[in-house]
Amino acid sequence: MSTSVETLLDELKAFLRDEQVTTNETILEHHSKDESYHAGNNPDIVVFPESSQEVSEIVKVADRNDTPIVPFGLGSSLEGHVIPYDKGITIDFTLMNKVVEIRERDFLVKVQPGVTRSQLNKELKKYGLFFTVDPGADATLGGMAATNASGTTSVRYGVMKDQVNDLEVVLPDGEIIHTGNLAQKSASGYDLTSLYVGSEGTLGCITELTLRVYGIPENIMAARASFPTVDDAVEAVVSILQTGVPVARVELVDEASIRQVNSFSEMDYKEKPTLFLEFHGNEPGLKHDVAFMEEIVADHHCEEVHFEKDNAARTKLWEARHNLAYAYIHGNPGRKLMVTDVCVPISELAGAIKHGREKIEELDFEAGILGHVGDGNYHALLMIDTDDPEEVRMAEQFNEAIVEYALARGGTCTGEHGVGRGKMKYLQREHGSALNVMENIKSALDPKGIMNPHKLVDAKGRSK
Ligand SMILES: Cc1cc2nc3c(=O)[nH]c(=O)nc-3n(C[C@H](O)[C@H](O)[C@H](O)COP(=O)(O)OP(=O)(O)OC[C@H]3O[C@@H](n4cnc5c(N)ncnc54)[C@H](O)[C@@H]3O)c2cc1C
Repeated sequence: MSTSVETLLDELKAFLRDEQVTTNETILEHHSKDESYHAGNNPDIVVFPESSQEVSEIVKVADRNDTPIVPFGLGSSLEGHVIPYDKGITIDFTLMNKVVEIRERDFLVKVQPGVTRSQLNKELKKYGLFFTVDPGADATLGGMAATNASGTTSVRYGVMKDQVNDLEVVLPDGEIIHTGNLAQKSASGYDLTSLYVGSEGTLGCITELTLRVYGIPENIMAARASFPTVDDAVEAVVSILQTGVPVARVELVDEASIRQVNSFSEMDYKEKPTLFLEFHGNEPGLKHDVAFMEEIVADHHCEEVHFEKDNAARTKLWEARHNLAYAYIHGNPGRKLMVTDVCVPISELAGAIKHGREKIEELDFEAGILGHVGDGNYHALLMIDTDDPEEVRMAEQFNEAIVEYALARGGTCTGEHGVGRGKMKYLQREHGSALNVMENIKSALDPKGIMNPHKLVDAKGRSK
C-alpha cells in the first residue's frame, strides 16, 4: 500500500464520525485473526460503517488509494478468512445490525449484514417463524452468506445459498447493486446471488440480505442414539437417508467428543459414538418417523435411544453439540484448535469416516470426529501445539490425507467452512480448469485485487 495511514484516516474521517474509525492496537489485534490456528496480522485501520452508503464511500477511498479491504462479521471463520495479510482497512459490520423488514406473508426477511443468527431468530419467534441455518458460532448473516455456511438443519432445509433471495452488494469500485429480488424463483439473467454467496469477501461487501424463513414446526422431537462403533452409527445414518425418513437434523459425535461434551457441558451422556437426531412435523407424522428411525437404528446395533421432547431438554442437547469446539478448547489448555471439514457423496460417507478415524489414531494429540453427517459432511477437530513444528506437520498431513480421500471420490475439500487461506492449495486439484474461470471472474470484478486479497482465489496473474 503506497498511501500513508494518515492520508487514509483523513479521507475516512471526512464522512465517518471519529468513533467509527480506529487505529487502537487492541481493536486492530481483535481484527487480525479468526478462530483458526492460522497466525494473524493486524490491519492498519478498522472502520464501523452504519449504512450501505457509508460502506460505498469507504470502498471508494480504498479503490482510489489501492488499499486492501477485509470485510469482517464476527471473525468466527476457520481458514484464515479475515486475516489482513496486506494490512489495509478492515470493515467491521457490527453497527449494521438491524432487522430491516419481516415479510411474514412472503416468508422473507430483510436484514443488515451484522445481524447474528440468534438475534434474527429471537425477532422471528414473535411471528412463529425461524431461520434455519445454524453454524456452531453465533455468526453474522453477512459472514454466513459470504462463506455459504450450513449447520445441523441443512439436511432438511438446505444451506445458506438455498436461503438467499437477494443481496445488496457494494462492488470494489463503490457501486451498489442488487443480485436478486423478492420472487420465489427467477430465470432472469446470470445468477449473481449464487456468485456472491460463498465469495468470502473477495468480490464485494454484502450490505443487505433478503432471506427465506420458515414456520416453526408444530412438533419437534430430538433423540440421542448411541452405538458400539462409529461405523454402526454412520451406517445407520446412511440407511435413514436412503429410506427417505425426513430427518431434520442428524449429527455424529464420536466417543472422544462425547467425553468432551460431558466434561464441558456437565452432561452424563453414554460415552459411546452417538447420533443426535431431530424430527419436525405434526403429531402422527412425527410418531411414524420416529418409530421408523428406531427400527433402522436397531438394525445397526444401537444400544440405547433417549428422546428429548421437552423444549428445555432439547435446547440443552443442541447447545451441548454447538459448544463442542469450545469444549475441546477448554479441555486442552495451551493448545490451538484446528478444525477441518470435507464432504463426500452419501454412499462414500462410511468409508470416509473410517479412513478419517484410522488417520486420527496415528496422531499423538487429542482429536475427534463429528459433523453434519446427513449431508455427507464430517469435521475433524485436532488440538495442536502450534509451537511444535512436528505436531503442525502431522496435523497438516492429516488434513491433506482426508482432503485427498474426499476428492478422489467426487467430494470437496470443504463442505461448509470455506477456502479462506488454508484450503487455497486444494482448489486446482478440485476444480482443474474451472479455477481459471474463477480467477477470470475475480480479475473482472476486482481488477485492482483490493477485496480480501490472498483468500479463495488470486486474480489472474497475481502472486499466490
Ligand atoms: C465453534 C465454531 C463452530 C462452527 N461451526 C460451523 C458450522 O457448523 N457450519 C459452518 O458453516 N461454519 C461453522 N463455523 C465457521 C464460521 O462460524 C462460519 O464460517 C460463519 O459463517 C462465519 O461468519 P462470521 O460472521 O464469523 O464471518 P467472519 O469470520 O467475520 O468472515 C467470514 C468471511 O466472510 C467475509 N465477510 C464477512 N462479512 C461480510 C460481508 N458483510 N460482506 C462480504 N463478505 C463478508 C469475510 O471477509 C470472510 O472472508 C464454526 C466456527 C466456530 C468457531
